[in-house]
Amino acid sequence: MTGLKNWGISLDEIPLEGLKVEFSELFDLGEEIKIAKPLTGFLHLKKIGVEVEVIGYLEGTIILDCDRCLSPYKFEIKKNWSLELKPLNFLNLEEERELKEEEMEVDFYENNWISFLDLIKEEIYLSIPYKKLCKEDCKGICQVCGVNLNEMLCKCKVYKKESPFAILKDIFLKNLEKGG
Ligand SMILES: [Zn+2]
Ligand SMILES: [Zn+2]
Repeated sequence: MTGLKNWGISLDEIPLEGLKVEFSELFDLGEEIKIAKPLTGFLHLKKIGVEVEVIGYLEGTIILDCDRCLSPYKFEIKKNWSLELKPLNFLNLEEERELKEEEMEVDFYENNWISFLDLIKEEIYLSIPYKKLCKEDCKGICQVCGVNLNEMLCKCKVYKKESPFAILKDIFLKNLEKGG
């Protein structure tokens, strides 16, 4: 969808009373984001001087890859957010001053252009968890044979890295066998 790249608005086009942009059936945001259930929502933009206040809502399902078993799984997004958009050159002017915006997220726009695509993509990235798991107790893949341990068990003897005691116990037992 090449049209989405130009999906946005120039600052001068935002009316004084604000602008509400509704979207639905968004199923292609580029290659990085895999969408399972098309995205629906809205963006509400209000100009306050050179800043733009954004209130957004987003709903849909994307596909993530589990960090443990590497399998794709569905991840539902449903969120409200608000954001303050400042012109990028504002950053230079304010360089000395620390940006301490407690309540609102702050972001920047460039060349008087506000990209709806970027606003939505960013919120999606922000909602992706740091640790992506298909389920809380995902068993991951066997490091020896590569089997997905959620689907079947293998006979490889692998001690989990996070369990040094298992290895100690093994050494201990071996020593016992040797008659030590
Ligand atoms: Zn998994
Ligand atoms: Zn195995």
